[in-house]
Amino acid sequence: PQPDLDLASLVRTIPDFPKPGIQFRDITTLIGDAAGFSESVRRLAARAAAYRPDFIVAVEARGFLFGAAMATALGLGLVPVRKAGKLPGVTIGVDYELEYGTDRLELHEGAILPGHRVVLVDDLLATGGTILATAALMRSVGYKVAAALFVIDLPDLGGSQRLEAAGLACETLIA
Ligand code: IMP
Repeated sequence: PQPDLDLASLVRTIPDFPKPGIQFRDITTLIGDAAGFSESVRRLAARAAAYRPDFIVAVEARGFLFGAAMATALGLGLVPVRKAGKLPGVTIGVDYELEYGTDRLELHEGAILPGHRVVLVDDLLATGGTILATAALMRSVGYKVAAALFVIDLPDLGGSQRLEAAGLACETLIA
């Protein structure tokens, strides 16, 4: 463990990606750093453990990187939430609003037994739209969403307030 390691210094910002005016937070430099990746997973797993989840639920695509490592660290199974049309079995889905248009996230039907507790994981919290849609999908089939964890928060976009208003506990490693 390296509790003093500054994870923020390992994330880089790429201007004008994917569109002009967007400052994209790029975690590839964090996960490419051996100490940075293992320390970020260790911190996420420690926070997740406090909620005593039965499963880790990770959001496509960068959420998979952290969620998979957390699940093995905690000895838990991983449930992927994917973009429309990617999962091969019978799915249930949720449509959610983007800045322009809508998108859809899907989950395998029966992936988890109702009543189980899950912790949601993604790389970054911006407006909160993606994780709120994921939480709604989980709750619609009877899973208890204990918390949502992120590596990075963009506090100016108000995501954490939106999650709080929706009764979803949220923790981030870097703000
Ligand atoms: P939200 O739904 O507005 O909270 O946006 C969060 C989602 O968009 C997450 O799935 C992120 O992976 C992705 N995202 C938004 N901005 C960034 C960024 O700057 N870097 C990496 N991912 C981002």
